Amino acid sequence: MPSQRQLFLNHLAQTSDAPLMLEMTSAEGVYMTDVDGKKYLDLISGIGVSNVGHRHPKVVEAIKNQVDKHLHVMVYGEFVQSPQVQLAEALSKTLPEKLNSVYLVNSGSEAIEGAMKLAKRYTGRSGLVACKNAYHGSSHGALSLTGSESFKRNYRPLLPGISHIEFGNKAELTNITEETAAFVVETVQGEAGVRQADKSYWTEVRKRCDETGTLLILDEIQCGFGRTGKFWAFEHYGIQPDVLVSAKGMGGGMPIGCFISDREIMHVFTENPVLGHISTFGGHPVSAAASLATLQVIHEEDLLRGVSQKEQLFHQLLKHPKIREIRSKGLMMAIEFESFDVLKPIIDKAIELGAVTDWFLFDDRSMRIAPPLIITEEEIKKACNIILQAIDQV
Ligand code: PMP
Repeated sequence: MPSQRQLFLNHLAQTSDAPLMLEMTSAEGVYMTDVDGKKYLDLISGIGVSNVGHRHPKVVEAIKNQVDKHLHVMVYGEFVQSPQVQLAEALSKTLPEKLNSVYLVNSGSEAIEGAMKLAKRYTGRSGLVACKNAYHGSSHGALSLTGSESFKRNYRPLLPGISHIEFGNKAELTNITEETAAFVVETVQGEAGVRQADKSYWTEVRKRCDETGTLLILDEIQCGFGRTGKFWAFEHYGIQPDVLVSAKGMGGGMPIGCFISDREIMHVFTENPVLGHISTFGGHPVSAAASLATLQVIHEEDLLRGVSQKEQLFHQLLKHPKIREIRSKGLMMAIEFESFDVLKPIIDKAIELGAVTDWFLFDDRSMRIAPPLIITEEEIKKACNIILQAIDQV
């Protein structure tokens, strides 16, 4: 009998020649347990997903309740489905008034696709501006926005009319012009290795978009839903987007994404052509119920309050001559080492010692730390001990 591992290699399409190949059989809170009963601290939340922890009881309860009522009943946008309606209203309540209309989809990439189409239709323009080292997803449109040539090279032709500017560089904002439909940008760059821009940059971004009639699309797929210590990351910077994109942590472990705008902007999808953006499974009722429960848990359990203190604790504890820099916004952190060759064995050792981490798509010398927001001080101490031990043991 071939093992599960062998079957994984034989029958599941692979995405690299070195998958992590951990075989988890259960997960609860900040822990995952493998087939041998070994427990691992999850320091990356399934890559920015399990913000409220694995199998949060309220999320599981919401899923079970919805499963007992109905699964899929109709494509997105036709029937009045209570989980979608409740979620959309709750999301709107977390946002400024102009972000009042929610389009629910299944994933981050899909949400980005919808947002790009929305900007083109609303402005009547086709140009887009994105950032170097940005990651917005793997579908053709989202890939076109991605700011890494090596990821795109072999998939051309991609969407035309997209230029890439340096994130945080005010002078390059002049690339946003009257021909630009949207500036698509992560509020905190994730796969670039947790890169931030200061408030004055964001003020300039908002100003430039207003001057040129360009929509500002903020990708908060990784940095939203509490990850940075505010519910939405843009709240740190005193600006508002025209379109906000979310996914990942939004579902509490279930697949869902969305893009949110003003209903006047969103209205363009209803005409010329009618059904301007459609989806069969967008806002699946079970995912929508899970997402609403996730949003409620973040508020009811006051999860945002502890984030900054937890972030500081990581900074205090992770002191080692081999650590060159720690960049963070809340519990979205990058621990920088000299090179990938230095970092990779440390990651392997940390996993062996019981803490799961990895690196970033466009920053392979930095370790990703993005644990569930529910992580306790004790668990942070344990995590940091493992990381320091791993550094010393390799
Ligand atoms: N945008 C950002 C900032 C992301 O981090 C990701 C996923 N890593 C995506 C978009 C794409 O999301 P998905 O994998 O759900 O398509």
